[in-house]
Amino acid sequence: MKQTVIVFIILLSMFTFAVTISGCKKKDPEQQTNEFRATKEPAQSVLGKAYQKAQGVECQSNLSQLRQLMQIKVDETRDESGEAPTFTSLSEIGAPSSVTKCPISKKPYTLNEGNRVTCTFEGHENF
Ligand SMILES: [Zn+2]
Repeated sequence: MKQTVIVFIILLSMFTFAVTISGCKKKDPEQQTNEFRATKEPAQSVLGKAYQKAQGVECQSNLSQLRQLMQIKVDETRDESGEAPTFTSLSEIGAPSSVTKCPISKKPYTLNEGNRVTCTFEGHENF
């Protein structure tokens, strides 16, 4: 009889432990979501930094796609004298809207002199 009580107590404590763990797991994604939501500012935590780094790769990929597209358009529209055209907006070169803004800051990329596309977000200036 005593053994049954002990087994019951052990089972009960294991159950409590399991509930505590699942409770903790529920909290974590919320914290992550909050962190990820606030990605317009440079991240402070390790997780946030890792996430922004991943998004930085996406930003770099967007920029390289835009630059390739720009090169094609410049070559296509070069006039007889060989003069390169100057574009004033990214929609002019037919860039899909999905790649025309930074995935972190959500700000549109800037089109500079010489048809150079850049990101204005801190740390992305040299992408
Ligand atoms: Zn960017």
